[in-house]
Amino acid sequence: MQLPQKAQPRVFSGMQPSGNLHLGNYLGAMLQWVEMQKSHECIYCVVDMHAITVWQDPAELKDAIRQVAAAYLAAGIDAKKTILFSQSQVHEHAELAWVFNCVARLGWLNRMTQFKEKAGRDRENASVGLYAYPVLMAADILAYRATHVPVGDDQKQHLELCRDIAQKFNNDYAGAIRNAGFEDGTFFPLCEPVIMGPATRVMSLRDGTKKMSKSEPSDMSRINLSDDADAIAKKIQKAKTDSEPLPTQEAGLKGRPEADNLVGIFAGLAQQSKARVLSDFGGGQFSRFKKALAELAVSRLAPLTTEMRRLLADPHGLDRTLAGGAERARAIAAPIVRQVKDIVGFLPA
Ligand code: ATP
Ligand code: MG
Repeated sequence: MQLPQKAQPRVFSGMQPSGNLHLGNYLGAMLQWVEMQKSHECIYCVVDMHAITVWQDPAELKDAIRQVAAAYLAAGIDAKKTILFSQSQVHEHAELAWVFNCVARLGWLNRMTQFKEKAGRDRENASVGLYAYPVLMAADILAYRATHVPVGDDQKQHLELCRDIAQKFNNDYAGAIRNAGFEDGTFFPLCEPVIMGPATRVMSLRDGTKKMSKSEPSDMSRINLSDDADAIAKKIQKAKTDSEPLPTQEAGLKGRPEADNLVGIFAGLAQQSKARVLSDFGGGQFSRFKKALAELAVSRLAPLTTEMRRLLADPHGLDRTLAGGAERARAIAAPIVRQVKDIVGFLPA
């Protein structure tokens, strides 16, 4: 099967079922995912193979996958139009990742800051999968020859690596790529990160210098999409702040990471600029601002949480949606990966 010479615009992204989805995932990525469905062909994935790069209890993983799928749907992903599935259901991701393991260089992976942060001091004890994570991520994207990847700011470095892998594959196999009928020698597109939206890096509520994360042990560090009104109010009330009142100008947030983060979250949820938020709350005490922020977060998240619960009450329905998506995903990825194997010099199956 001949593939189109020029890459069509196509969006790919994923989230790990490694814990509770939180406000960072929502503001940093999911809102853009929903928006991009209007203008692009989109493929969104629950990246379960990434999740097991750190320990996941098998008794909980299946439900965690369904939770993420339910959150996508509740946020407005339209599974009729958009392809929605779970990564391990499409084996082409793993196959392409192996080829890319042989294209990517150790030196490139050694520079990845996410591995350094997640492995911490006990690096010898980290899984090989955690180290190779960005290679699998490149395979996720390029198995569909995707051109646009909406993510939070923390994924920028991994997307640069994805471009490096695509470029090196195109260079190393240029001759075979031309022989396969790609006259310009380009097989993989150099994908563009789409890092935009109201809050591309939401920080932890306990430490304004660390990003909000699913895998952070303290639940008080994040607002989960599944939190109820009481939990949200409590977490915001207890969020770390400094002792100064809020500034009236944005410049006054400099050097105050916790205040900056809370104002950023407010701005993201209200779809306003930080300047506007400060014109309403600047000069006042944190307590008044925190109360308003908690009310805003509850009103924005409550419909999402209700819809997630409704979807999760029918796990078989969710499983059917994911299985249907996987079939559509495989229809795109299989011919691409088959062609990669041919280019590399493998015999057909
Ligand atoms: P983990 O701690 O297990 O890595 P995570 O919270 O980082 O989980 P991921 O599944 O790794 O979530 O990332 C899913 C998407 O959400 C990615 O596009 C990522 O860039 C984005 N994202 C994650 N955390 C934040 C954050 N704090 N602010 C903005 N975007 C975020
Ligand atoms: Mg992450």
